[in-house]
Amino acid sequence: MAKINKNFENLVPSYLFAETAKKTNDYIKAHPDKKVIKLGIGDVTLPLAPIVVDAMKKGCDELGHKETFKGYPDYEGYAFVREAVAGYYKSFGVTVSPDEIMINDGAKSDAGNFTDIFSEENVVLVTDPVYPVYVDTNIMGGRKIIYADCTEENGFCAVPDKNVHADLIYLCSPNNPTGSCLNRDQLRAWVDYALENKAVIFFDAAYEAFITEDNIPRSIFEIEGARKCAVEMCSLSKTAGFTGTRCGYTVIPHELEVEGVNVYKRWYRRQSTKFNGVSYPVQCAAAAVFSQEGLKQIKENLSYYQENAKIIAGTMNELGIKFTGGVNSPYIWFKCPDNMGSWDFFDYMLDNIQVVGTPGEGFGENGKGWFRLTAFGDRNNTIEAMERFKKLIKG
Ligand code: PLP
Repeated sequence: MAKINKNFENLVPSYLFAETAKKTNDYIKAHPDKKVIKLGIGDVTLPLAPIVVDAMKKGCDELGHKETFKGYPDYEGYAFVREAVAGYYKSFGVTVSPDEIMINDGAKSDAGNFTDIFSEENVVLVTDPVYPVYVDTNIMGGRKIIYADCTEENGFCAVPDKNVHADLIYLCSPNNPTGSCLNRDQLRAWVDYALENKAVIFFDAAYEAFITEDNIPRSIFEIEGARKCAVEMCSLSKTAGFTGTRCGYTVIPHELEVEGVNVYKRWYRRQSTKFNGVSYPVQCAAAAVFSQEGLKQIKENLSYYQENAKIIAGTMNELGIKFTGGVNSPYIWFKCPDNMGSWDFFDYMLDNIQVVGTPGEGFGENGKGWFRLTAFGDRNNTIEAMERFKKLIKG
């Protein structure tokens, strides 16, 4: 008799985005005359950079000719992309070798799949609030999950508690949803904790391209000792608008071993069994991102989102509303005024100013009473949304 994985029954229904979408659509149907502005989604809105599109087209053309046709790509990604990624790391002072980099179809896959190579006995530590993928995939895998509280008091940056033991640790900086970033000392504390506990850190750097301040590390490998205890996942989704194109990369230092097993080799074994690589045209596009011209072109889009973030953060400052993010991050995470609950505040904004965000409660207990807005929207809409927001709060 087939047996189902009953761990799935422990998942809480993922109703956050479905619920916000339903409420928004119902509102639009009932009020067709109102202009609703959506600042809730974490998806990008600007098109791919021209150099990226050209590289992808060129890759397609090559597939159309016998002389340049390519079949299955290398499991770890073509060398030319891995070299480009290593060069990118070098540009901010981090040395990683191209053969420590694995190209994938986005950070979600590796963030969700990496625990395949780890026993289900591991205790998993995540922060609260949290990007739900870390939690749900470990529930599916039947692992025990413990939470490090991120609160207003610690600026939504948890530091490790020496009295608590964890084996696998997920860190995300700049953080989704809170926009907060671990500074060097905070990240060093996590690295030291991991070394002490023989734990492995999965460092999700999906938003590193939004970092503008020098004291915020863009890679965990800026921290001494991290090569012995960390894996870093990154993505072109937010860096270069690849949410629909799909490409990311994971860095696994050669030194990283668990119980005498080399993690890169074990992960390679896993990937070569379950994953057949990223398409050639997409890898061409990815390499183009890291060219000199590519970096210049993607900077324009990043600056656009960063300016949106500034507009939202500026509004919060003007209104004296507590918030994190917005500086090194496309997310602005603010405290709902008048101690409102985050779902109540969602309804309040939708009903009164037709602006849609994401209730913080959907990301964990500590998100109760907090709210996330994103900088990925259209500029004029962002400005208009903030004008409406000011009127609402001042009124
Ligand atoms: N990690 C974090 C923290 C994210 O917020 C997201 C997407 O929103 C991802 C990973 C997924 O990225 P990708 O599109 O590369 O799968």
